[in-house]
Amino acid sequence: MKKIIAVYPGTFDPITKGHVDIIKRASNIFDRLIIPLVTVNVSKNILFNIKERVKVTREVVDELGLSNVTVDNFNGLLIDYAHKVGATVIVRGLRAVSDFEYELQMAFMNRNLDPNIETVSMMPYIKYSFLSSSIVKEIFFNGGDVSKFVPKVALKYLLQKREKR
Ligand code: ADP
Repeated sequence: MKKIIAVYPGTFDPITKGHVDIIKRASNIFDRLIIPLVTVNVSKNILFNIKERVKVTREVVDELGLSNVTVDNFNGLLIDYAHKVGATVIVRGLRAVSDFEYELQMAFMNRNLDPNIETVSMMPYIKYSFLSSSIVKEIFFNGGDVSKFVPKVALKYLLQKREKR
């Protein structure tokens, strides 16, 4: 039977428990899950560079012990990356209505670029549905406790960043 390869792209700056939730769900239903991290994202205020983001995400994925999940990075069009790795599914996390319009636009655009690639939106556990990397950074750098929202590994790297500031 044909193996289904899915990509779950994003910035992951840093990876949160919401991302982890989606990774676990997606790794359960697809044969392989590749997490390609966007190398540069001009529209976002990035804290961790691409090497750091890949390292943190890999450590978190290793700890999860999911043998069908790998972490990579990419530049350019996601559809081109999907072709390169043989993926036929794009996984996206859907939190609240606020995500919906952007996600719908992306999904339609990607379908336009390649109708054979399906976008699958997955909802996280409700307690993570208000969580984003941006809000984690905001709380953390204002002295708040984010240990409930990010994996231990990500917290370790956040603390290192703060020390260097
Ligand atoms: P970007 O928005 O640049 O693609 P992110 O790292 O912010 O990168 O998000 C990557 C993917 O993970 C997106 O599909 C996003 O909707 C999803 N996501 C982010 N946070 C959560 C969360 N708390 N629960 C579920 N999905 C999430």
